[in-house]
Amino acid sequence: GMPATPPPVLAERRKTRQLMVGSVGVGSEFPVSVQSMTTTVTADVNATLQQIAELTAAGCDIVRVACPSADDAEALPAIARKSQIPVIADIHFQPKYVFAAIEAGCAAVRVNPGNIKKFDDKVKEIAQAAREHGTPIRIGVNAGSLDPRLLAKYGKPTPEALVESALWEASLFAEHDFHDIKISVKHHDPVVMVRAYELLAERCDYPLHLGVTEAGPAFQGTVKSAVAFGALLSKGIGDTIRVSLSAPPVEEVKVGLQILQSLNLRPRKLEIVSCPSCGRAQVDVYKLADEVTAGLSGMEVPLRVAVMGCVVNGPGEAREADLGVASGNGKGQIFVKGEVIKTVPEHKIVETLIEEALRLAETMGET
Ligand code: SF4
Repeated sequence: GMPATPPPVLAERRKTRQLMVGSVGVGSEFPVSVQSMTTTVTADVNATLQQIAELTAAGCDIVRVACPSADDAEALPAIARKSQIPVIADIHFQPKYVFAAIEAGCAAVRVNPGNIKKFDDKVKEIAQAAREHGTPIRIGVNAGSLDPRLLAKYGKPTPEALVESALWEASLFAEHDFHDIKISVKHHDPVVMVRAYELLAERCDYPLHLGVTEAGPAFQGTVKSAVAFGALLSKGIGDTIRVSLSAPPVEEVKVGLQILQSLNLRPRKLEIVSCPSCGRAQVDVYKLADEVTAGLSGMEVPLRVAVMGCVVNGPGEAREADLGVASGNGKGQIFVKGEVIKTVPEHKIVETLIEEALRLAETMGET
């Protein structure tokens, strides 16, 4: 087809070092990737792989699994081998599991600086093993498990404290000439979190993993993450993201992808442009928008579909979209690429839009 002009973005990416998490590049030369974390017991290999398959199908790029016990560590080789996407082992306390994860073929290992002091003398060996296997390390600082030394110095997990902790940790690896590092400085408060990442972005060139930790149940967590990631990504800060929700991990992936699509950091797929409805509406817009969304879900082509409640603004918006409907008088005017192609009775609107969407998708060569 025709070479498409890339859609506008709000900022150039901040220039970073590049690293590979398995097959997925992380850094300014690569698209921002979406991560999630399994909620199964890692040692339950089948359940964990099943959840990873669901995450993969939802569009997740990288998955993280917790590794709190020896049984979990033993499950890592099978999980790393059979997962369709790169697997990161999340390790808080035990250096021996870091080595196990590296040897298991995990695509990366996440360590927590609040705890690493305990295995300070192990950093050299970890750097050596990670280098030998080409395994990057994520330094994951969390407000809740900040290094006690820095907690004492700053009184609470301030942006400065989070950043100092992360950079100190990175320096321990850098001393052994290990730089295959990405960093996160998570906090539950988007204001503190955004400030921390801004500071970190100024002070290093490591790729950054964005996260608002303990963001909350789906609604609050979605808003907090969208606001915080939006503030950073709109300045080019952030190379991989994880939305944390007290909800199934597939929901995290959907939110993450939608945030990236909203900022043109991912190609937009199906986009429903529906009006909020108002006193002029002559159709149940919410129901119609839900039905159209459900009917078209899973379409891979970047269709913009307008669902409008009346013929006042309806035709105008519908004209800007690939496909649209403006309802009124128990009927729907169906628009394709700005032209009214037919008028159908209200009960035929959804099926007509689906038919036309499939036809358009076919001409776009992607069904
Ligand atoms: Fe109201 Fe019509 Fe606009 Fe929908 S399209 S918000 S019904 S004026």
